[in-house]
Amino acid sequence: MSRRRIDIAKPKFGDEEWQALRGPLESGWLTQGPEVSAFEQDFAKRHEVGHALATTSCTTALHLALAALDIGPGDEVIVPAFTWVATANVILYCGATPVFVDVDRDTFNLDVSQIAQKVTKRTKAVIPVHLFGLCADMDGLRAVLPDTVAVVEDAACAAGASYKGRPAGGFGDFAAFSFHPRKSITTGEGGMLTTTDDDLAAKAEILRNHGASISEEQRHYGPQPYILPDFNLLGFNYRMSDLQGAVGRVQLGRLDGFIAERERWSGFYDEAFADIPWIRSPARPEAGQHAWQAYVTYIDPAQAPKPRNEIMQILHENGIATRPGTHGVHMLGYFRDKYGFSPDDFPAARDCERNSMALPLHNQMSQEDYEFVVSAIRSL
Ligand SMILES: *Cc1c(COP(=O)(O)O)cnc(C)c1O
Repeated sequence: MSRRRIDIAKPKFGDEEWQALRGPLESGWLTQGPEVSAFEQDFAKRHEVGHALATTSCTTALHLALAALDIGPGDEVIVPAFTWVATANVILYCGATPVFVDVDRDTFNLDVSQIAQKVTKRTKAVIPVHLFGLCADMDGLRAVLPDTVAVVEDAACAAGASYKGRPAGGFGDFAAFSFHPRKSITTGEGGMLTTTDDDLAAKAEILRNHGASISEEQRHYGPQPYILPDFNLLGFNYRMSDLQGAVGRVQLGRLDGFIAERERWSGFYDEAFADIPWIRSPARPEAGQHAWQAYVTYIDPAQAPKPRNEIMQILHENGIATRPGTHGVHMLGYFRDKYGFSPDDFPAARDCERNSMALPLHNQMSQEDYEFVVSAIRSL
């Protein structure tokens, strides 16, 4: 076999991103401004929501959502135990308590049948995660929740995903997307908060900008230079820069093309592994679009020829990058020490951390790259 190096993920840019950066660099308006506004409008339109607010990351978008919902000490927020650590961290930023629920091993998403037993009088919100780009069971979730409990989608991996024909981003009170380079489209760092609720959008917008009652832009272009904003809320600086907004607009225009290409190659993987009993391909939505942020398989330890870590090591030696899907958050030191969790408290999350394996899937891979991955796995 020829030598190759295949990354787990790699962003893709073209000349348009370079050109887009000229506008803000020439005008000198670098912080949140016209490029961010245009990016927000395009994003809201694509995801069929009334409001989109660009942020510095998905993590800060999630934090803004919880702050706008007035979540604080004494409140409980339900999260899946198998997710990126930020989903749980933002709850602690608010002084509230994360309540973990185990996941479904087949979809890697929240097991909604375990939600009802976790809901208490203190439950203020649930953060379902659309992990790796597959939407969580949003109807199943809503059906087991009291109306008073808010829903905040962690849509970090789900730009362009849909569920029962509707795009991610409008299923709850808020949704938060990520533009980290590991996601399908990127602005370096960056995020987007979406909502269909006018009042929540207005509040989140104020909280994003230090709690200021009017924005820098309004102040800059406004007719009354003596006006200082009032600050009636404890806010943050979670604004995206216009350089990022300019890149984000171009990347958003590429999103559907990126997903279509990933969809095609994920199908190629599915077919190639169909007759290998120890490797399970990712679940696909019954009605909707997987966003294919990642192609995450499950290695059945009872049938696999070697332990998962050994498989990952061999692939690594062949130049093929793989990663465990994500973490059992209850097994991470901070959460384990704070709450005294053992791995067995959330057995599916434990197994998903130990047995999941993401394969390379991105928009800089050639047919030869995909064939190389498949033959390396088949020769195990
Ligand atoms: C990447 C990711 C995040 C964090 O996104 P950032 O933009 O890096 O803050 C949160 N949740 C999930 C599920 C993620 O995959």
